Amino acid sequence: MLLEGKRALILGVANNKSIAYGIAKEFNENGAKLAFNYLGDALKKRVEPICEELNGDFTFQCDVSSDEEIAAAVKLVEEKWGGVDIIVHSIGFADRNDLQGRFINTSRDGFKLAMDISAYSLTAVCGAFEHLLSDNASIITLSYYGAEKVITNYNVMGVAKAALEASVRYLAVDLGTKNVRINAISAGPIKTLAASGIGGFRKILNYIEENAPQQRNVTTEDVGRSALYLASDLSSGVTGEVLHVDAGYHVVGIGIK
Ligand code: NAD
Repeated sequence: MLLEGKRALILGVANNKSIAYGIAKEFNENGAKLAFNYLGDALKKRVEPICEELNGDFTFQCDVSSDEEIAAAVKLVEEKWGGVDIIVHSIGFADRNDLQGRFINTSRDGFKLAMDISAYSLTAVCGAFEHLLSDNASIITLSYYGAEKVITNYNVMGVAKAALEASVRYLAVDLGTKNVRINAISAGPIKTLAASGIGGFRKILNYIEENAPQQRNVTTEDVGRSALYLASDLSSGVTGEVLHVDAGYHVVGIGIK
C-alpha cells in the first residue's frame, strides 16, 4: 500500500487499454484516492464506469487545450480534496495526417496542435495546480523514444515529445524548491487508441519483439508498476528524469542476429 491516502489525479484515461488505466489500476491497488478527467461525452461514458471499477472519487470534463477547463478542474479538485499529491499526465494528440509520410510536410497548424496538447499542456496543468500540490507531491508524464531518435511515421509527435521531456527538466527546477518531483516515463509501444493513429504501428510492435533486449513489448501493467515507483516515496530523490519502460529497447544500437 505504497500510496495509502494519497490523492491522485489521473488525466488521460480513454478506455481500459489506456496507459493511464494501467497506472490508475496499480494506484488503486496501493491505496490511492483517484479522480479522472474525460474529454467529451463519448469518453465520459467510458471513464465513469472505470472510475467506479477503480474506486475513484469523481470524474470531470477537462480538455487540456482550454485554460478555462483546466481552471474549472483546479476549482473542483480544491473543493473535493483541498489538495493533490500525484498528477498523472497521460495525454497526447496529433492530426492523423501528420503521423504518416514525410515529417517535412507537417503543416503549421498540425505542428501547433501537437505541441499544444502533447507538450504545452503539461506546463499548463503544473502551473494551474501548483498551489494545490502537497509537500512531496509527484507528477508523471508519458513520453516515447521518438523524442530521441527518428521513428518512422511518429514525425511531429517525436518533436512534441522532445519538447515534453525538456519541459520535465525545466519544471523539475521550478517545482523542486517546493519539494515536488516531476518525471517522465518513456514507454515502449503499446496498442492503445492513440497508438492506432500512427501509421504502421503493428510493424513497430513486431520490430520491438525481435530487437528489444527482453524480446517482448511492454504492457500497461509494466508502465503502471514503474509509475507506482515514481508516484511513491520510493523515488523521493528522483526528479527531472526520463525513465525508459521499454523492455530495454533504447539501449540497442546495432543488434545483429
Ligand atoms: P489513449 O488514447 O488511451 O490516451 C490518450 C489520452 O489523451 C486519451 O484519454 C484522450 O482523451 C486524451 N486527450 C487527447 N487530447 C486531449 C485533450 N485536448 N484534453 C484532454 N485529454 C486529451 O492512448 P495512450 O497510448 O494511453 O496515450 C497516453 C500517453 O502515452 C500519450 O501521451 C502517449 O503519447 C503516450 N505514449 C503512448 C505509447 C503507446 O505506444 N501507446 C508509447 C509511449 C508513450
